Amino acid sequence: MSASSKLLVLNAGSSSLKFKVFGVQPFAAGIGGMFDRIGDAINCTLKASAPADLDGGKGRKWEIKIPAKDHVEAMQRILDFIKGNVSSAFAREVVAVGHRVVHGLEISQPVLLTDKTIGKIREAAVLAPLHNPPGLQGIDAAEKVFKGVPQVAVFDTAFHQTMPSQAFMYGLPYELYEKHKIRRYGFHGTSHKYLVEQAAGMLGKPVSETNVITCHLGNGSSIAAIRGGLCIDTTMGMTPLEGLLMGTRCGDLDPAAVLFIQKQLNLSVQDTDTLLNKKSGLLGLTGSNDLRAVIEGAQRGEPRAELGLAMFVYRVQKYIGAYWAALGGKVDAVVFSAGIGENSSVIRGLVIGPLKGMGLELDVAANDATVGGRCGDIAAPTSRCRLLVIPTDEELCIAEQTLQVVGFQNLTGATAA
Ligand code: ADP
Repeated sequence: MSASSKLLVLNAGSSSLKFKVFGVQPFAAGIGGMFDRIGDAINCTLKASAPADLDGGKGRKWEIKIPAKDHVEAMQRILDFIKGNVSSAFAREVVAVGHRVVHGLEISQPVLLTDKTIGKIREAAVLAPLHNPPGLQGIDAAEKVFKGVPQVAVFDTAFHQTMPSQAFMYGLPYELYEKHKIRRYGFHGTSHKYLVEQAAGMLGKPVSETNVITCHLGNGSSIAAIRGGLCIDTTMGMTPLEGLLMGTRCGDLDPAAVLFIQKQLNLSVQDTDTLLNKKSGLLGLTGSNDLRAVIEGAQRGEPRAELGLAMFVYRVQKYIGAYWAALGGKVDAVVFSAGIGENSSVIRGLVIGPLKGMGLELDVAANDATVGGRCGDIAAPTSRCRLLVIPTDEELCIAEQTLQVVGFQNLTGATAA
């Protein structure tokens, strides 16, 4: 372990590879970015930005078109890029790699990657065929490029493993749970965990005594009910499709509607999956999956945009109400985060405004001012609970958990290719 030791966090998508570098001692975020359109020889792009203190106080941004045929090649290009622009010794400085993995079945903690734990991730891919294979590609890429460096998987599902069975079970024959692990798992767990820890700090309470409703509202959205720092319910289910209305996902839906649609439109399982995950939600209702465009359309009086906006807001309100009840009314704060929650004072106003009867009250000026990555309490002094805006930082949370799993003592002696 030396002052230059680095931790690399990777988040692999089907055709993308996000990365962020952290200094270990002192623990601090460094350069980060994303390889996009992996496999597309013409449009494959590496975008990166370095914080101000890494580049003579100015900060710096890059956008470079470089082909990468797969995740292994993208990883090698990222390594070369960092070596060329930030630290020529980077390959030797990386002492651990942390991976975001979407589905971990019933694994409740981050795990050190071994043949056995990688096997578990492969097993979970049966339930998450769209989400886990990219994570495995990221792991494979890092293994090839950083040989012998300890790697850790941090699961989106892990934080929700404290849900009681009354919240995680579906009303289906019990054998489906026993034999096929059909149950609710929840996602965005790394974000919800980070949000309750930050909220506890802002409230001046120990995490173990903090009760919050965390609203992670982005292109994908979920809400969690958290009692004493532990998740007791969340809106996403066996897959990220359940719950809120999202950019392209339908959220809650009568399963009989799916059967009827399949039959009526003669759709294959794959086509139905695409319809529900990629063509529904705000996109399907309004023509745009970007809530900014939907709000603008509603302001122009376009009926579909008005409907999409009203549905988005209504479902958030409905789940805040449900989780208020799940927490027995003992709620320290409602937390807003992610692209929409952090930036849209309009949505926060529409969600909270009508909840005055529950005692929730916004400070309008604070709400308007807390955008663009700002953190703060936007509740009126008379509000029954705090209303917090907290920018989420999943990479930071993955980095912290990776360090905890690996432990400083195991970090020495690792080498890179
Ligand atoms: P994800 O990580 O799920 O892809 P993000 O958390 O980055 O999504 O959120 C992206 C979404 O945030 C965009 O689709 C956009 O709809 C929404 N968004 C960003 N800024 C605003 C804003 N000012 N008002 C409304 N929506 C916004």
